[in-house]
Amino acid sequence: PSRLVTPERRGDDLGDAALRPQNLSEFVGQQQARANLQVFIDAARKRKEALDHVLFVGPPGLGKTTLAQIVARELGVGFRATSGPVIAKAGDLAALLTNLEERDVLFIDEIHRLSPSVEEVLYPAMEDFQLDLIIGEGPAARSVKIDLSKFTLVGATTRAGLLTNPLRDRFGIPIRLNFYTIEELESIVTRGARVLGTPITADGANEIARRARGTPRIAGRLLRRVRDFASAADAEAIDRAIADHALGALEVDSAGLDAMDRRYLTTIALNYGGGPVGVETMAAALSEPRDAIEDIIEPYLIQCGYLQRTPRGRLLTDHAFRHLGLAAPSRDPA
Ligand code: ADP
Repeated sequence: PSRLVTPERRGDDLGDAALRPQNLSEFVGQQQARANLQVFIDAARKRKEALDHVLFVGPPGLGKTTLAQIVARELGVGFRATSGPVIAKAGDLAALLTNLEERDVLFIDEIHRLSPSVEEVLYPAMEDFQLDLIIGEGPAARSVKIDLSKFTLVGATTRAGLLTNPLRDRFGIPIRLNFYTIEELESIVTRGARVLGTPITADGANEIARRARGTPRIAGRLLRRVRDFASAADAEAIDRAIADHALGALEVDSAGLDAMDRRYLTTIALNYGGGPVGVETMAAALSEPRDAIEDIIEPYLIQCGYLQRTPRGRLLTDHAFRHLGLAAPSRDPA
């Protein structure tokens, strides 16, 4: 079972769709990205042309899929969605591409996970709106070119570095999404509560926002869980006390850390004197695969300034000791 605070999509996130903002003006935060997109969308609409290909880069749950849908809606064109690992063969992509209408948006999530043979098909499609297909086999094989509608590819990836250079170079509009501020998450939670028809006070929204790890998807998920506690208690509105009680019961602490995060931090603090300690040692100590530690546990701890990755290993900051309520060891300046 995945963690309540994972930024990845979980089974219980299906209710997300209702919380999705429908247009750019409803989309909270990412000021620069929104402003730029608005300009490019307006220009494409005026010229009645397909929007240039767009690449959204950023951690899971920050709104890449939501923005892709908004782009299509604002352009007034069709929207098709798929993801890198789902497109197994070149022919699968060819089928998707030939079904697009003029100026449609094709969204490919996790685009860094396309296989090389599928990427080969994508290049001429993005560049010249053409499909180069090989028909037949052996000496009878011949290549045919098929013209495609002029479409917009919207790709999403968690890290731009995972993309091959030729693919990255074919996106005219690269857009990086950042973690949200507490104020932005507060307004996302407030709007979400309104959509769900649940009254919430400003400090209730603040309490959920502070624990949402900079991530709207987590904010929405915490809101839905807190709302269950409020309903069960017949509360009139979600206020700070209810949010605090619910999130405490769900083991999400005041900074959004869960039991796994705290176990990680406490192990370094108590067993390794605050570090530095190697990631392999931590993997063994926690019985977790190294990948899970590096990809799932550490990023948020680093983002909040609790942890540093140094050449000699992982190092806890004084901030982390304070959060754990432990005394920081006195260290020699490095
Ligand atoms: P990603 O594709 O980056 O993983 P999504 O677009 O699926 O993220 O967003 C996850 C959820 O978070 C969405 O269902 C939506 O409800 C919410 N969300 C994301 N960004 C925003 C935002 N800026 N304002 C309001 N809700 C948002």
